Amino acid sequence: MRLLVIGCGGVAQVAIQKCAQNKEVFTEMCLASRTVSKCDALKDKLEKQGYPVKITTTTVNADDTGDVVRVIREYQPDAVLNVALPYQDLSIMDACLECKVDYIDTANYEPEDTDEPVWRAAYEKRCKEKGFTAYFDYSYQWAYMDKFKEAGITGLLGTGFDPGVTSVFTAYAKKHYFDRIDYIDILDCNGGDHGYAFATNFNPEINLREVSANGSYWEDGHWVETKPMEIKREYDFPEVGQKDMYLLHHEEIEALGRNFPEVKRIRFFMTFGQSYLDHMRCLEDVGMLSTTPVKFEGKDIVPIQFLKALLPDPASLGPRTVGKTNIGCLFRGVRDGKERVIYIYNVCDHQECYKELGSQAISYTTGVPAMIGTALVLKGVWKKPGVYTTDEFDPDPYMEMLGEYGLPWVVKENPAEVE
Ligand code: NDP
Repeated sequence: MRLLVIGCGGVAQVAIQKCAQNKEVFTEMCLASRTVSKCDALKDKLEKQGYPVKITTTTVNADDTGDVVRVIREYQPDAVLNVALPYQDLSIMDACLECKVDYIDTANYEPEDTDEPVWRAAYEKRCKEKGFTAYFDYSYQWAYMDKFKEAGITGLLGTGFDPGVTSVFTAYAKKHYFDRIDYIDILDCNGGDHGYAFATNFNPEINLREVSANGSYWEDGHWVETKPMEIKREYDFPEVGQKDMYLLHHEEIEALGRNFPEVKRIRFFMTFGQSYLDHMRCLEDVGMLSTTPVKFEGKDIVPIQFLKALLPDPASLGPRTVGKTNIGCLFRGVRDGKERVIYIYNVCDHQECYKELGSQAISYTTGVPAMIGTALVLKGVWKKPGVYTTDEFDPDPYMEMLGEYGLPWVVKENPAEVE
């Protein structure tokens, strides 16, 4: 199968190396990104390691549908894996539609310019109607459902860890452990330490936008919004230990709320250390997280993009990060008339990931599921014209591949719950 991968950052580098390991499915790959030298370096690395996959590289401007169409027409892939940024989701989906090629990504669309008037008006209407203020939501990508169906192509949305694996865990819990799920708490714990006072584990702009925004959760069929970091809990994570975690808005809640309407409440928590929070608050207070351009010495600069240039590249954190991640879902529900609670989770060790692929665990836990989702679409196992999230397919083949490709999972019965 021929795969076109767009983007060659932290997540892409893992996804591409994992595709190379999956020799049966991925026989040819084209690595296309803005900075082609990163694609060339990875191609050299994989060739030196003796992987049989045939790799080519090219430059692409994924903001421009026409340019993506050009690359697709030249390369003729069987599918396109978008591991660039959420800003490019729609331009790449449009190109896939024009060329009738399957589409896979790891993150929900959000616009780069949140001050653009047409988008802003639609956003403000949605905030009022739906009751949450995150810049991203599924409506833009779900709107492609009929067009993808007519074209006979599959769009697999959000096949990273969260979203991605967390939604597969939910489908798996429903299939094998519950007649009815009542409560879901998604817990994302990074117990890793990179030794910097402040750095982000994936793209700083996307990460800081997400973390500094209002939180929200889904309860009884509607959104409840909170102030940023308003709800704090502690949890004792298996293999990591006790951590503070904070409630955030997160994109899989929207899809799970729609696809599992019986669930009474869905929340998402992420752990943060005090140093990270102090730095983030200070940067926010001085305006460094703003996406609105300011004039500086005659030039327009976007503060958060300038900040990104100053911060360590997430892809460079691998050698210095030690510790483990624990990401999973706590489910409470009913099976055979009895209450049941389980925690399905994965533990990933930063240094093990670095030894295997030269990456830290956040890129690893996202890149592996990106490969798995792509492989299942290409093999026809998860092929279904339209656009879908990962909870809408049979979870079993995905769960099997998680173990096989480095993200084994555990089902813990009767775990501690979150208040
Ligand atoms: P990086 O910033 O490390 O990488 C992004 C890559 O996309 C870079 O290679 C960049 O090029 C390229 N790119 C950006 N804009 C364009 C463009 N216009 N045209 C072509 N290429 C472009 O990000 P990450 O690897 O950390 O994140 C990748 C994706 O994964 C994001 O969408 C992120 O939200 C998602 N993610 C999902 C998670 C999940 O669990 N679901 C968790 C973590 C991330 P250049 O090298 O020139 O900068």
